[in-house]
Amino acid sequence: MVCELCGKEVRTKLMMVEGAPLNVCEGCQKFAVGEAVVKTETGRVIATPIADRLEMRGRRMGTRDIYSQGSDKMLADDYGARVRDRRRQMSLTQEELAKKINEKKSVIIKVENQDMRPSDKLLGTLERALGISLKEAVEDVDTSTSKEAFKTGMTLGDFIKYE
Ligand SMILES: [Zn+2]
Repeated sequence: MVCELCGKEVRTKLMMVEGAPLNVCEGCQKFAVGEAVVKTETGRVIATPIADRLEMRGRRMGTRDIYSQGSDKMLADDYGARVRDRRRQMSLTQEELAKKINEKKSVIIKVENQDMRPSDKLLGTLERALGISLKEAVEDVDTSTSKEAFKTGMTLGDFIKYE
């Protein structure tokens, strides 16, 4: 076969080069990202870009797992009341608390009324300023189980779509 990259008439191999399958010689294989075809367990042949994409997706899922490990605590249902009660305990006005954490008074009002879900950053700032926790541990085990099932379902669905 003729190498589709350098034009040499030699033994070539179908490789993925910049997103397209090309017949390339041994010398040009260094430009390839991988073999163009992959046999799956079921004997099906899929192009590597898809395999790569699935692999990448798997990696992204892994990242999400790390994230969810850190979020076994959720924003407390009564975070607004917690902020308000603690602020009053500390004899701070909404304005004083706002100044203390470099926020606008309106932000404090919104948080206390639970009109606004504070960002993680704001949450941390409030927790430090007030010396309280505005999060609570997630006790409902079923939630994480169904999340797991949902994730798996997504992945399987994607596989079916591509096959
Ligand atoms: Zn070549």
